[in-house]
Amino acid sequence: MSGKENILFQVADAALASPDETVRQVVFPAVRGGEKTLRDLVHECKTKGPEYRRTVQTTLRASYTGHYRRGLIQLLTVLEFRSGNTAHQPVIRPLELLVPTPRKELIHRLRTRRCELCGQCGTVAVHQVAKLAHLGTPGPGQPAWAAFMARKRRKTLVVCQPCHEVIHATPVTHAA
Ligand SMILES: [Zn+2]
Repeated sequence: MSGKENILFQVADAALASPDETVRQVVFPAVRGGEKTLRDLVHECKTKGPEYRRTVQTTLRASYTGHYRRGLIQLLTVLEFRSGNTAHQPVIRPLELLVPTPRKELIHRLRTRRCELCGQCGTVAVHQVAKLAHLGTPGPGQPAWAAFMARKRRKTLVVCQPCHEVIHATPVTHAA
């Protein structure tokens, strides 16, 4: 099956636009071929197994940077909340297979809805750096949030909006 990434994006886009509607109403119509396309995808996933998984993971890692990846995580959070309904399994199964274990850990952290900097619960987002080296080194150029991430050796941080604004207002400054 071709255009899997595109299907994934259409699913993500539709789910995020209408998170309170049912998968049948929102997600199926967003994909060309609807439910059958998703069933075929699951079938292909089951028959091809690990090789397929590895290919898609590699592709996702390469192309879903920044906000696409964040959108995917949000989508998975939404879908898994609704997975008690067996009608949703065709959508959930392939998506779960696409998520590597570190992502599952991040999804779990997102679900707590607790800011990892200030401890407040509410709407949270993921702040992400590409490399631990981007967090700088201990000293005057390293803000508290970066020191916290560096100490925990984390490239992601689940934060509330005020803390996220502080992070962007106080970037890491590197020595020349
Ligand atoms: Zn906070």
